[in-house]
Amino acid sequence: MTSIRRVVLASRPAGQPKPENFRIEGFELPEAAEGEVTVQSLYLSLDPYMRGRMSDAKSYAAPVPVDGVMEGETVSEVVKSRHTGFAPGDIVRGRTGWSTHAVVRGETLRRVETYGAPLTTALGVLGMPGSTAWSGLKFIGQPKQGETVVVAAASGPVGSLVGQLAKLAGARAVGIAGGPDKCSFVKDGLGFDAVVDHRSKDLGSDLDIACPNGIDVYFENVGGHVWDAVLPRLNQFARVPVCGLVAHYNGTGSGASDRLPATMSAILRRSLLVRGFIQTEFASHFEEFLEEVAPRVVSGDIKYREDIVDGLENAPEAFIGMLTGGNFGKLIVKLSI
Ligand code: NAP
Repeated sequence: MTSIRRVVLASRPAGQPKPENFRIEGFELPEAAEGEVTVQSLYLSLDPYMRGRMSDAKSYAAPVPVDGVMEGETVSEVVKSRHTGFAPGDIVRGRTGWSTHAVVRGETLRRVETYGAPLTTALGVLGMPGSTAWSGLKFIGQPKQGETVVVAAASGPVGSLVGQLAKLAGARAVGIAGGPDKCSFVKDGLGFDAVVDHRSKDLGSDLDIACPNGIDVYFENVGGHVWDAVLPRLNQFARVPVCGLVAHYNGTGSGASDRLPATMSAILRRSLLVRGFIQTEFASHFEEFLEEVAPRVVSGDIKYREDIVDGLENAPEAFIGMLTGGNFGKLIVKLSI
């Protein structure tokens, strides 16, 4: 097998993806045309949204075609450039896919700026997931001093930043995570005020203890049984930025059939603001996000955790695991050729 490799979608999964839904293959890298750049990927980000791209169900983005390269963002080094904006040696981020190398239009790449933080942060706390947390909380959640902000998937790149930003806004931050290790990281490592384990026998009672004044902002990353437990505890005029529903991405475990009437009734009776968003909506605020968050990451005031897997061949298994909580922190693949 050549050292130039990529992972393609071999078949569409039914439910939880399986290793056979992916195929790793060598390929011939085309020569860059005028305006194009050849990159060698250093790090590949694995994100929950990729499960949606594996399906051909109608969505906000087109699916990856069968036999097409899996979509994904990378941090890469420019090796050849026929675009005036880039030169060999530049470090860039772009949607170059699950691939060790790629040839892409120069205008689709951005120079990596991490203000001195490690390069991997450009895919996590200082990249797409971080800006998702920042914009969803700032523009939709709008936490106020003394309010209670709850976030699920709290040890991951989105949730961990949501809670820390909520605290900086003077709110009380409560995380929901799976298992004792993630829970102690959220409370002791990230400094949340409280944490509850969504695998507990009685998540509702645990939330009552963690949120004695109810919930003013619930940053929704998960759905499923976590939403069932949060819904009755939302205060009048609570805000719910709906960022992700990872519990539903495999099309399993959708749970109670009366969820919709319960949700609609709560929205009505408690005047809830439930607002979905895709982070691209706030793309024009990316520089503002970086200027606010990056210095705090560099100084150590904002903490983050990464889960780095070695080698493109291990990407499918790591991705499959993430969909049920197998990752612990921002999942990134280090590419070795
Ligand atoms: P992440 O936290 O690194 O990984 C997903 C986590 O979800 C898992 O580690 C697991 O954590 C939790 N989880 C999985 N299945 C669950 C279940 N059935 N019940 C409860 N928790 C479950 O992911 P991330 O990158 O930070 O993303 C978090 C969410 O934001 C995802 O839903 C993602 O799709 C969404 N997102 C949306 C946008 C947007 O533009 N709207 C952008 C980026 C991300 P535990 O082990 O702690 O349960």
